[in-house]
Amino acid sequence: MFETAIAGSLPKPSWLSETEKLWPQWKLAGPELQQAKADATLLWIKEQEDAGLDIVGDGEQSRQHFVHGFLEQVEGIDFEHKVEMGIRNDRYKAMVPQVVAPLRLKGRVHAFEAQLARAHTKKKLKFTLPGPLTIVDTVADRFYGDKQKMAFAFAELLNQEALALQADGVDIIQFDEPAFNVYMQDAADWGVKALEIAARGLTCTTAVHICYGYGIKANTDWKETLGQEWRQYAQVFPALAASSIQQVSLECYHSHVPPDLMALLKDKDVMVGVIDVASDVIETPEQVADTIGVALQYLPRNRIFPCTNCGLAPMSRDVAVKKLEALAQGAALARQRYAQAGPGA
Ligand code: ZN
Repeated sequence: MFETAIAGSLPKPSWLSETEKLWPQWKLAGPELQQAKADATLLWIKEQEDAGLDIVGDGEQSRQHFVHGFLEQVEGIDFEHKVEMGIRNDRYKAMVPQVVAPLRLKGRVHAFEAQLARAHTKKKLKFTLPGPLTIVDTVADRFYGDKQKMAFAFAELLNQEALALQADGVDIIQFDEPAFNVYMQDAADWGVKALEIAARGLTCTTAVHICYGYGIKANTDWKETLGQEWRQYAQVFPALAASSIQQVSLECYHSHVPPDLMALLKDKDVMVGVIDVASDVIETPEQVADTIGVALQYLPRNRIFPCTNCGLAPMSRDVAVKKLEALAQGAALARQRYAQAGPGA
């Protein structure tokens, strides 16, 4: 009950890359960089275990960015000539590579860090991949000429890597789709279908993470414009409830998401965001347990997975560690407090 996990990313140590940035530059190259990525992965597995999390991940220490880390292993993408593009409906500008030819994987994408993580933890291992809709919103298209067609092409590549990650021993494969909260109609019309292609044939647990983005200024400014009630999830949750994807995340703590939207996720496991990633203030175990209590009004106990609202990549390392501890301690408190509560009791 109340198994804890993080959304996915964690801060990179200062000896690995620039810190507190979304697209940090690596500080090393070649074999030294590879070794440093491995060291950082092991460090964060240890920190997650020590904090008391039930499900751990690689903290995305081996990728510069959660989307471009995947794209680097895709043939048909020109990384030499990046262009500036407005992403997430022009919320912010990013330098993105261009799709210039049919897409094909060059080989394995995340074998190194997935196998390393698997060899060093006995806990459940979650691995994250970018979702198809979010990928097509983070790359420039000079070839397909159609968002959906390109998303389905990426979904096939994701499926190939996801099946290989499962063979590596990963227990949960999570697709990250922050763009679902921006292009709600596309998400409902074909984004969920693309996800199901990406997850086709998987027998491990499948998950989708949907959020309001990292705690960076462009995102906190955007959230200011969304009003008092954030109902974006309401458009896509019915499609997800009818899909084969097993776990769905939503932001909860410090967000304006009406908690009753959780009820739309009928039989799904729900990763409930109990940790704010846009504030350095550390949640108390009581606050975390209170948020779990809110979720209990709409979900049975066995379907609640306390989680962070989004990734912790742009935060300071010290704050991130304390937030991991708050997450685990809050879930432990909730296990005592709500041993008998909830609609599933
Ligand atoms: Zn997120």
